[in-house]
Amino acid sequence: MTTPIVRFAPSPTGRLHVGNVRTALINWLFANGAGGQFVLRIDDTDTERSTEVYEQGIKDDLTWLGLTWDDTFNQSKRFEKYDAAAASLKEKGLLYACYETADELDRKRKIALSRGRPPVYDRAALNLTDDEKAALEAEGRKPHWRFKLSGGRCEWTDLVRGDQSIDTSSISDPILIREDGSYLYTLPSVVDDIDYDITHVVRGEDHVTNSGAQIEIFQALGGAAPNMAHTPLLIGADGQGLSKRLGSLSIAQLAEDGFEPLAIASLLARIGTSENVEAADGLDQLARAFGFDKIGRAPARFDEAELKSVNASILHGLQFEDVKDRLSAIDPRAANEAFWMVVRENCSVLPDVREFLEVAFGEITPEIDDEDRDFISAAAASLPDGDITDETWGTWTSALKADTGRKGRGLFMPLRKALTGMAHGPDMASMLKLIGREKAVKRLAG
Ligand code: GLU
Repeated sequence: MTTPIVRFAPSPTGRLHVGNVRTALINWLFANGAGGQFVLRIDDTDTERSTEVYEQGIKDDLTWLGLTWDDTFNQSKRFEKYDAAAASLKEKGLLYACYETADELDRKRKIALSRGRPPVYDRAALNLTDDEKAALEAEGRKPHWRFKLSGGRCEWTDLVRGDQSIDTSSISDPILIREDGSYLYTLPSVVDDIDYDITHVVRGEDHVTNSGAQIEIFQALGGAAPNMAHTPLLIGADGQGLSKRLGSLSIAQLAEDGFEPLAIASLLARIGTSENVEAADGLDQLARAFGFDKIGRAPARFDEAELKSVNASILHGLQFEDVKDRLSAIDPRAANEAFWMVVRENCSVLPDVREFLEVAFGEITPEIDDEDRDFISAAAASLPDGDITDETWGTWTSALKADTGRKGRGLFMPLRKALTGMAHGPDMASMLKLIGREKAVKRLAG
């Protein structure tokens, strides 16, 4: 196989979310697993809606995830190329001027539908004479330009979907250039894929029909179409589309919520595939394991609860040095190795350490139920002397068990609640050591 060159082509009209970042990730994993290249193309031909702020945001999101690119470029810098391609298509009679207004097109669609025909553009503009076109332009109309599809079958073997066949007579000739001269995405994308020697177009399956038209445009421009892979879209845990929730599922938001980039990558690389969803060691491991043949045809289910659990398992393996700076940004007190090693097992996302800051370093209100008061007094009296060590909790609770006859939950829970003010949390032997004698004595006194 030739070395792959792939591209990820976001429009800078918003930040990346889990849906489009999954496409970026799949491209990146494929390229990197095969020693290929990953090109970041910024689809900013829509100069009204595209902003540099979003472009930078997208780059920041990819960088944060570790999805580095080998090359990047902006479509807005390449209009001359698109103009040349458009001119060549016009010369070949494959790009033709149309003058229908949006209302006229709408009417045509309705009439076709009412006659039980598919709402495919009727190519009326192909029959316009030069005089008729001149008359329309004299009325002040400006043309939009459509690509003339072959009307035959467009076939390819999709790396995810298998053999595909699109009857191009069942789709409208796509508009490539609008009345105002601006380009829709279809033509620039093909021109760039040719110029950048893209070997594989990997994108969401909402682009399958586009591929039918684009493959014909590749051929018309003299290039062979790249390999194609269309991946199923993401759905939520409830089986519904994610479109309405994508704002809260932006990479920026997930980063702000404290998720680890590797947790997001591990999950997105593995949902909807034949692999188990679990934390990966790194992007390289995911890249080595990548294969289009592992991607299923059913929608991939994105479940935030699953993301949390993958995130938790990554956190549980992180050393203090890995998180020190971020802990310090959460709270200077949290940048404490003993604290991190004790509380990490109880955190799903890093900011969860907040829950244990007061317990470890501050004041809490001990929780002592009435029926446990005597027990806690006995416990206070029998706390072993001297500094609290790893053994203190074991020695202390064994003695309390023998003295009071309490065991299991009845023995441990009142102590936990008195010492931490909570009914859950990290292992108490470590917790007691972290709390220290002074605070422990004070809390046991109620
Ligand atoms: N800008 C297009 C999109 O985001 C790119 C599609 C493609 O990969 O060709 O949908």
